[in-house]
Amino acid sequence: MSEVLNQNFIDGTWQDAASGASFKDINPALNSDVIGQFPESGVEDVDDAVRAARTAFKTWGSMPAPARGDILRRIGDLLTERKSELAFQMTREMGKPFFETKGDVQEAIDTAYYAATETRRLFGHTVPSEMPNKFNMSIRRPIGVCGVISAWNFPVAVPTWKMFPALAAGNTVVFKPSEDAPHSGALLVKIMVEAGLPAGVLNLVQGGGNAGRALVEHPDVNAVSFTGSTVTGSQVGEACGRMHKRFSLEMGGKNPMIVLADADLDLVIDGLLWGAFGTTGQRCTATSRLIVHEDVHDELVNTLAERAKALKIGYGNLDDTEMGPVINQKGLDKIEYYVGVGIEEGATCLIGGKRPTGEGVEDGTFYEPTIFTDVTQNMRIAKEEIFGPVLSVIKISSYKEAVEVANNIEFGLSSAIYTQDIATAFRAMHEIEAGITYVNGPTIGAEAHMPFGGVKGTGNGHREGGWEVFEFYTETKTVYVDYSGKLQKAQIDNVED
Ligand code: NAD
Repeated sequence: MSEVLNQNFIDGTWQDAASGASFKDINPALNSDVIGQFPESGVEDVDDAVRAARTAFKTWGSMPAPARGDILRRIGDLLTERKSELAFQMTREMGKPFFETKGDVQEAIDTAYYAATETRRLFGHTVPSEMPNKFNMSIRRPIGVCGVISAWNFPVAVPTWKMFPALAAGNTVVFKPSEDAPHSGALLVKIMVEAGLPAGVLNLVQGGGNAGRALVEHPDVNAVSFTGSTVTGSQVGEACGRMHKRFSLEMGGKNPMIVLADADLDLVIDGLLWGAFGTTGQRCTATSRLIVHEDVHDELVNTLAERAKALKIGYGNLDDTEMGPVINQKGLDKIEYYVGVGIEEGATCLIGGKRPTGEGVEDGTFYEPTIFTDVTQNMRIAKEEIFGPVLSVIKISSYKEAVEVANNIEFGLSSAIYTQDIATAFRAMHEIEAGITYVNGPTIGAEAHMPFGGVKGTGNGHREGGWEVFEFYTETKTVYVDYSGKLQKAQIDNVED
């Protein structure tokens, strides 16, 4: 896997962008390490890719679903074989430590095997008819060509959450990875094609917003699945709504962890280090708000600060690295901006609030783990997504107040509560406004066979993962079979006035 796959993949062929334009992909931990120039695709490339996907749909969509499942299983096998090689390249490109990118690939493996299994269970319903000698059922049909647009922070897992169920259900795909993780996207496509996907079933177009917009607005794309920021997602949603397309949006988060006075604080600290500073805080599900009871606030915050300061920051492909870089200068600028906002708002920057210095971090976009205390619920650092290793700590004095604070937000992706009291835990499952609630675990840790997604400003009601994702990637066809041999008029012949 040492070659750099820096081309589009359209109709079974690796090729450059029609315009010849390209963009540079660099290692965020070592900016002098250039991974390659990638195609800056435009309307023409997207058009070619969609045409290929439309043609391939005719055969792929009518293949028996379990035969599609066999290919997905082979994709899972190849990902298993190449897990370490792929993870190394992912870490080099987007920065999170090697143990995390291996987890990212594992999620793709789990998703492949799960989707393969579901090809044998693409359930419809059979229900009784109102009439005699008549049979009613619903069956699932693929939608057609699906546009897949993803963020960079899970460069393999998140695209597979979209592409594997889409393909399993009989759709064809045009995939546009993030411009911050084009190589990981291309390596994933190569593996999928090697597993036996016919030409045109999966197409790759590299590039940024222009390529994404061209895909969303292409009249022959039937469904769009998007993961990224709320700002971009809103634009995608508007365009899809205008064009009557089906669309799934997975967007930003500002995820709360509630810690009550009876919580096991050792467990909380391990959870916080992982939840707030894993992936350098650049997860949609990152724990970015700690809502902690006043009785345990000081003890928790002080111990957490000591542990967070000790995290080893550096290049993720080195053995001892615990936290990698921020993805790029723009991401770093945003974090620095919000740290300034927090200080202006009157919060206390307990640790961090700056870039680290020293050996191993001088050539990358690194930022120290940062904890703000004395945060109140309406401060901007308590409400807006920073997407970096910044934790805002809000002190509360009751469970009721904790839930009010947790819900006082436009997002609703993930959430967590730490308590030993089972009744409180069950109340929280219902009362916290979020798509996901963890009890005695941090806000991160999705499993492939469970639904994933958010409420409020985080999503538009669809779910990835689990069975629910197949609802998105299929159309329901309703079928009536009348074997009575005569015309039976529903709502007329079977009703006595
Ligand atoms: P982004 O919105 O900048 O980009 C996401 C993708 O959209 C990229 O592939 C980009 O090229 C493309 N794009 C940009 N403009 C477009 C347009 N006008 N039309 C179509 N596509 C366009 O997001 P990002 O910075 O790459 O990712 C970080 C964001 O993603 C954070 O807000 C994070 O919370 C969110 N995220 C959400 C989830 C989730 O499942 N909810 C998962 C991971 C990341």
